[in-house]
Amino acid sequence: MGVKFIFVVGGVLSGLGKGIVTSSIGKLLQSYGYKVTAIKIDPYINIDAGTMRPTEHGEVWVTEDGGEIDQDLGNYERFLGKNIPKKHNITTGQIFLSVIQKERRLEYGGKDVEMIPDIINEIKHRIKSVIGDNDFVLVEVGGTTGDIENLPFLHAIRELGREHPSIFILVTYLPYLKNVGELKTKPTQHAAARLREVGIFPDFIVTRSERRIDEPRINTISKRCFIEKENIIDDPDLESIYLVPLLFHEQGFGKKILKKFGLEPKTENGLKEWEKRVNNLLNSDRIVKIGVVGKYVAHGNSEHKDVYISVLEAIKHACAEIGVKPIIEQIQSTLVEENGTNMLRKYDGIVVPGGFGSKGTEGIIQAIKFCRENNVPFLGLCYGMQMAVIEFARNVCGMKNANTTEVDENTPYPVIDILPEQKKLVEEKKMGASMRLGAYPAILKEGTLVHRLYGKNEICERHRHRYEVNPEFIEKLEENGLVFSGVSPDRKLMEFLELPNHRFFVATQAHPEFKSRFEQPSPLFLGFVKACLEMPQQKTL
Ligand code: GLN
Repeated sequence: MGVKFIFVVGGVLSGLGKGIVTSSIGKLLQSYGYKVTAIKIDPYINIDAGTMRPTEHGEVWVTEDGGEIDQDLGNYERFLGKNIPKKHNITTGQIFLSVIQKERRLEYGGKDVEMIPDIINEIKHRIKSVIGDNDFVLVEVGGTTGDIENLPFLHAIRELGREHPSIFILVTYLPYLKNVGELKTKPTQHAAARLREVGIFPDFIVTRSERRIDEPRINTISKRCFIEKENIIDDPDLESIYLVPLLFHEQGFGKKILKKFGLEPKTENGLKEWEKRVNNLLNSDRIVKIGVVGKYVAHGNSEHKDVYISVLEAIKHACAEIGVKPIIEQIQSTLVEENGTNMLRKYDGIVVPGGFGSKGTEGIIQAIKFCRENNVPFLGLCYGMQMAVIEFARNVCGMKNANTTEVDENTPYPVIDILPEQKKLVEEKKMGASMRLGAYPAILKEGTLVHRLYGKNEICERHRHRYEVNPEFIEKLEENGLVFSGVSPDRKLMEFLELPNHRFFVATQAHPEFKSRFEQPSPLFLGFVKACLEMPQQKTL
């Protein structure tokens, strides 16, 4: 069977959850026995998301092969349960860079290089390069129809759509106007019209909205956007993103897509396990209350929802396996600095995720001290591990003002220091895609908690950092009771640490949250949530 393309584009506004729509369609097709992969197109000029501020762009997702990418790739991995390499993310910057480099190498044979056909061909070439043995390639075009930025990509997918079996899906937003008490379809009509300008007629329209769509609105969209009523798919706000594949399944969306290609499901019941986990997550009687203490929670007057998205999802994945309902709260670390750690008492466990720079680090260190001294489960991720080492050095080993050189270059005890190979890169301002990135192996120490949780001697997790535990201080830290339970194969880098005689005090230089999938949670998060459930006090909703 030749490959089939499913193009997903967005109308009206961005941030609608096109990534979840794309991932959910992928999951449905997988559940019918087809091989599926997905690509995200980001029309920005950046080569990748690695140089963007977390508060600007949300989380930077790290792929197994070291790509620093838009978080939608994370959704694809979480839903599809497979690794998606970095070439599955295409940006305008990558396309232009590659075309310009080819021109410099005379690869265009002396002719003038133009948007059409050269840029368009480069985009098509990049999309086709991921086909492999997949039955379906889902291509999500970021941004909104009508933007200048995504126009070349729309032209490219229109051409691909004529060359391969393909369908087009428009994801739009229906605002609910309280004063008239109805969902409005006009922006959707405009979005469909803009798409027609580039020659794309959507096969399906997925309507995102606060509430479910009703018959009159379906009729209007059907008439004004020239689309059959059954191909308008309802996608209202739901309690969990993991409900979306089930809602689509109920509407027969997957089978309608297959029908467009003249295909039938090869298997049924492929969503049984998924459904069970959703049920565990949403309907369990037991609850667990987890605090995530981070640097990037507040943003103006609002709270960031997606800076720590993989961490939040990894907690949920563990809860869905165990059968417990999570209540997760994000806490801005500067608040702990200002108000002390009493505010942390209501949690069964604390996670400290990754971060950069000095702001809010003292609050994080206080939060870790609170966990260590009160036997409260603690999971530290990347910066979280580095902060745990600083806390231990200061408060257990008596190294006053110990710090990371990222925060204080003149600290008397630089227990965390820049990796030697990173120093040069930073001095030369080589900042893009230059951290220690992607999956690296670690050897786990037998008899430790981390070894028990993973159940093997060698594991592989993803990384994104420039700093590391300073080897000069390892002996001193160990003498005082800190156990480095996982190290790099050459034993130079400390990858995991833990404290014996503690309910759960584990940290890693890696980002295990990037390998957690809905149907295959991370062992570290599973261990953490189980430890949280052992906390004595009863928590209520
Ligand atoms: N800022 C730290 C470093 O570069 C931690 C990075 C992170 O948490 N991802 O090593």
